[in-house]
Amino acid sequence: MGKVIIIGAGGVATVAAHKVAKNADVFSEIMIASRTKSKCDAIVKAIGNPAIKTAQVDADNVDELTALFDAFKPDLVMNLALPYQDLTIMEACLKSGVSYLDTANYEPRDVAHFEYSWQWAFKERFEQAGLTAILGCGFDPGVTSIYTAYAAKHHFKEIQYLDIVDCNAGNHHKAFATNFNPEINIREITQKGQYWEDGKWVETEPLEIHKTLTYPNVGPRESYLLHHEEIESLVKNYPTIRRARFWMTFGEEYLTHLRVIQNIGMAGIEPINYEGHQIVPLQFLKAVLPNPQDLGANYDGETSIGCRIRGIGKDGKEHTYYVYNNCSHQAAYEETGMQGVSYTTGVPATIGARLFMLGLWKRPGVWNVEEFDPDPFMDELNKQGLPWHELHDCDLEL
Ligand code: NDP
Repeated sequence: MGKVIIIGAGGVATVAAHKVAKNADVFSEIMIASRTKSKCDAIVKAIGNPAIKTAQVDADNVDELTALFDAFKPDLVMNLALPYQDLTIMEACLKSGVSYLDTANYEPRDVAHFEYSWQWAFKERFEQAGLTAILGCGFDPGVTSIYTAYAAKHHFKEIQYLDIVDCNAGNHHKAFATNFNPEINIREITQKGQYWEDGKWVETEPLEIHKTLTYPNVGPRESYLLHHEEIESLVKNYPTIRRARFWMTFGEEYLTHLRVIQNIGMAGIEPINYEGHQIVPLQFLKAVLPNPQDLGANYDGETSIGCRIRGIGKDGKEHTYYVYNNCSHQAAYEETGMQGVSYTTGVPATIGARLFMLGLWKRPGVWNVEEFDPDPFMDELNKQGLPWHELHDCDLEL
């Protein structure tokens, strides 16, 4: 058992807080701390457990974080704020002697570029301090990485081709909205695509490569190749992989809006001067777009995310394998008040925290999730609301 502090009070943090509260057998005390304390208080009210503490903190400020950690003395910090805060929170964890978990890799504010090097650089310091850092414990990265580890452990001698396929077949009935933080989401989608092949990265123009893929219980959807962070750690941890790609579905309506947003300069991340104020166009856009947390009530349909894998099976013959989860937006909303994208991220973060508290995922150093035993995680997915399904020797379409 142990004490946990959740940083952030957005969609993902709300789901995680609900789930952490339901795992009272391992979390002895819970605190939610974020930039806006009233949002933390609202989560506590929705959960209906007044024993959950709340606090205001600026997670860009190491001293503020350290003071909070020293006062609350958590065993684990769940970083569910934004990727910009990863390094300050890791730094504060080292100062206060607290372990760490997040769902997205560090991204500097001024360049839309994400890679693990900044966080991997903390490895020795976490090792020496005897602290655990669990990186990328959402769905993708997160569950997709654990699916790959599970496939490698139980079904493959050698994974050769990996395609991560992420379909959101839900409808929120808004003309345009993003499913998680709009600033982070639009930065991710508008940058160049990238995949791994024959030992090196291949770069593409943004959304240049696309293909119709068929998703279980959904049907065919146009799927676009993006760079996604879990590919970086998976090809390092599974060097037999010859090609690794990430695909995400987008509708025509969404892409048209995105094109217009870019063409008129609203996706810009460079500050501009507007009537004497420095404003970042994309941050301003975020302020006028629907809040992803408010999409849940009218969201129908489901997400379908999984891994399609080809390689040499345990019997030495070629093997194909598809492991996936489908998550209903409505069911997620009924349980937590949030839509499926927040749900599919907050639940895995909770499971990672649970396994840390149980000592099963506790090891000094900085680790991507596929470096831990996938089996207890796969068991928990079935128990905590994200059941998975698998197909063997199937047509992967890829
Ligand atoms: P939201 O924007 O809804 O929530 C972010 C929260 O962080 C807000 O409550 C915000 O405060 C708080 N915050 C921002 N800056 C600070 C700061 N300096 N100090 C303290 N708190 C701060 O985002 P989401 O919940 O949608 O996403 C959370 C994280 O999950 C992101 O890192 C995102 O990239 C990641 N993610 C990962 C996925 C995966 O599958 N691995 C999928 C989806 C998201 P305020 O409320 O005051 O604005």
